[in-house]
Amino acid sequence: MKAALNPQSLAWGRTENNIRALAGYAAARKAEIGRDRVFDFSIGNPSVPPPACLEEAFRAVLADTDGVTLHAYTPAPGLPSLRKAIAAQLSRRGSVPFDWRQVYVTMGASAGLAAFARAVLLPGEKVIAFAPYFMEYRVFTEAAGGELLTVPPRGDMQPDLGALEALLDEKVRLVILNSPNNPSGVVLTDETLRAAAGLLKAASERFGRPIYLLSDEPYRELIFDGRALPCAAEYYDDTVVCYSYSKSLSLPGERLGYLAVSGRAADKEAVFDAIAGAARACGYINAPSLIQRVVERCLDETADLKIYEENRDLLYRGLRRLGYDCVYPDGAFYLFVKTPEPDAVAFSERAKKHELILVPSDDFGVGGYVRLAYCVPRGMIERAMPAFAALAAEYGLK
Ligand code: PLP
Repeated sequence: MKAALNPQSLAWGRTENNIRALAGYAAARKAEIGRDRVFDFSIGNPSVPPPACLEEAFRAVLADTDGVTLHAYTPAPGLPSLRKAIAAQLSRRGSVPFDWRQVYVTMGASAGLAAFARAVLLPGEKVIAFAPYFMEYRVFTEAAGGELLTVPPRGDMQPDLGALEALLDEKVRLVILNSPNNPSGVVLTDETLRAAAGLLKAASERFGRPIYLLSDEPYRELIFDGRALPCAAEYYDDTVVCYSYSKSLSLPGERLGYLAVSGRAADKEAVFDAIAGAARACGYINAPSLIQRVVERCLDETADLKIYEENRDLLYRGLRRLGYDCVYPDGAFYLFVKTPEPDAVAFSERAKKHELILVPSDDFGVGGYVRLAYCVPRGMIERAMPAFAALAAEYGLK
């Protein structure tokens, strides 16, 4: 007998995202020809170890607690002490206050994004993301019954705000932005945020209800060249911050992040309650108790993120010298490279012949680029250069 299943869930399960498929291919190739001969730029798994304070915090938490409490359920939105510390940290960033009662601790940014889409959307309503975008936005939106629309980028990878304005109608409930960006590494400028906020404010007033801005910030601390990250909440009141400790603390497998509603959001208590209801409906219960306690002790720490900036310089300069056209990344740990042929999938396939594993950009909502995750050992970038040179020669670059 054939299984009777939700076809949409089945499709999502089967169309595993391209990144994981490429990472699987890279792992198989490494087993076949040796680790050092495959140049795997597929996945954004931090390559830098967590800060030392994390191990100390694990030890302290295990030693200090009576075991029963340590492994008990926490309140669904997280431990009050952690929520208070997060709210205080966010409030220190600028002029926008965050109240701990509107901080909801989640299992990473993914759970936060999924819960927030459900908290806001009714079936048939719309979410707007700026392309290129993190591909899971589509799944989270559609799972909540919504439709994802995308704003194309300009040449500098800032969004085309004319296109945003044209998309804003009464069905739009949510705009997601992500800066520093996965996959381009670009940081949204003050001007972009100010202008986007102006459009959202005008549209919210026109339609008589707020359009929410979800600021997806897992790469917040990964910003280079001494730049400061403009904060979306400073520009737009109905902002919810989505954060993850996956990248800043190199903890992706431990699953911790949060949603925090701006203290300036209209009816912020109701926004929080809808987040709590959506998380409950997803069966999230609470983020893992042990890691909540550990991260609380390391809240102001990060892994050694300077290493990513050094990798960025090495890769960006190396590829530019070989004639590749690259978007200059201000942050995160991704390099977006224009493909020398229009079909990014074909280029990625050709790169594989040189054992270069590069993610085609189509799943990120734009064609004609590949994404290179440079959260990799430095030696791999150095060893990959002759392969990039051979690939460049095939296309007659320079
Ligand atoms: N948002 C963006 C832009 C990401 O790149 C990622 C992970 O790579 C996430 C969200 C999800 O992060 P998490 O590991 O916290 O679920």
